[in-house]
Amino acid sequence: MRTAAGKGKIVIISSPSGGGKTTICRRLLRRNRRWVFSVSYTTRTKREGERNGREYYFVDLPEFAQLRRSGFFAESARVHLHYYGTPRRPLDGAIGKGDVVLLDVDVKGAASIKRKYPQALSLFVLPPSKAELRRRLKRRGTETRAQLAVRLNNAIAEMEKYDRFDYIIINKDINEAVTAADHIIKSWTVGVTYFGRNKSKAYPVYR
Ligand code: 5GP
Repeated sequence: MRTAAGKGKIVIISSPSGGGKTTICRRLLRRNRRWVFSVSYTTRTKREGERNGREYYFVDLPEFAQLRRSGFFAESARVHLHYYGTPRRPLDGAIGKGDVVLLDVDVKGAASIKRKYPQALSLFVLPPSKAELRRRLKRRGTETRAQLAVRLNNAIAEMEKYDRFDYIIINKDINEAVTAADHIIKSWTVGVTYFGRNKSKAYPVYR
């Protein structure tokens, strides 16, 4: 198994929307003050409580397109109805300094980052069931009905891709999920290799 030693410490945290990756990222950063978050650019509008430069950099479509053309992003993707991109410079800077850098990206973004940075560690966070995913998406209340339907459909397609990730975390209990992610990342950054990776047993795919 790869370890992070000497090659930068990129940690990709992905999940279908409603899987809980954003909460997990936030809590990991609270527990580990030296870890950094890769702040993406997005064309979606700011939600209540979000701040430009903290959760995302909020830009309009022409600006996003211009940034993408100029090679500003390490990866970018259309997710649901909007565009998202991971800026390259802060990512490479964090790697250069040996920081642990967390990326909260969708499944396509995770695959692109893994291609460019094969040493990255990828974690896939899954809800315990489809019904629970639907409940969580509804509870969040940030989407219209149409957006919710788009997210649910995308989520189910994304869940099928679980076996592309290094580790799968079932987010049944948020505290346990954060602790599991924390342990996996720390073990990986110091080169411990004894974690099991038997993905076929780790998760029953929705069918
Ligand atoms: P939200 O709009 O709910 O914050 O995020 C929607 C989705 O976009 C989530 O799955 C999130 O992980 C993903 N996302 C956020 N930033 C990026 C990014 O830079 N690149 C990609 N590919 N996906 C992202």
